Amino acid sequence: MAKVPVKIVSWEEIVEWSKGLAERIRGDGFQPDVVIAVSRGGFVPARLICDFLDVTNLLSIQSQHWVEAARMAEKAILRFPYRVDLSGMRAILVDDIVDTGDTLQLARDFVVREWRPSELKVAALQWISSVAKIRPDYYYLEVRDWTWFQYPWTRLEDTMQFIVRIFREDERARGRSLSEDEIAWLFREFYGVDPRQLGLYWGLALKRLVEKGILRLEDGRYYLAKAG
Ligand code: ADP
Repeated sequence: MAKVPVKIVSWEEIVEWSKGLAERIRGDGFQPDVVIAVSRGGFVPARLICDFLDVTNLLSIQSQHWVEAARMAEKAILRFPYRVDLSGMRAILVDDIVDTGDTLQLARDFVVREWRPSELKVAALQWISSVAKIRPDYYYLEVRDWTWFQYPWTRLEDTMQFIVRIFREDERARGRSLSEDEIAWLFREFYGVDPRQLGLYWGLALKRLVEKGILRLEDGRYYLAKAG
């Protein structure tokens, strides 16, 4: 059993899920005048929704979790709370996944209050119903058991973080040096994912971690350079 359940999502699945989501929106008779991507995760789905629903207006709003200084609590914030006038327009906010729902809720409330569309719907490819505080108006897949969905647009970022996490959290890796094969073996155990599924991203992630000084490479063995 993987310690952190991960599912690798392919580009083909993203197209299929976005098409399915667009069909739900269309089936409900909702034709948006403008699509708003919740940045960064909602960008690709939002662009595909525009294509499937024949929408030319695409905006975005960046909502993300932020660790407050001197506090462990994470708070959702809007990075660039600019204002536009959407009065008289039907809008749809698009995200990849509703996990806690915090970032989406913040973006939704801001758009309603400050951009004032005549109607605002919320759509996401996936909805983790067991933990989410909000239920989107439209979703394609309901997820019950929490999983980290490894989307194609965060492949490098995620792979780098996954590798570092093994060095920090697995007792067989902590304070040790590991060969690439040993990292791959632990990766399979930790995440239930074969690194070969990551294609070019696997080698690239190891290379970047060394370039950034996070991992050191000596005599073909990697070890964690920075503590914390
Ligand atoms: P929200 O649930 O409002 O989207 P979160 O802070 O939980 O807020 O998620 C913010 C973003 O982080 C998501 O839009 C997605 O890009 C990424 N994310 C969160 N949870 C997951 C997950 N389980 N799998 C993949 N990506 C995730």
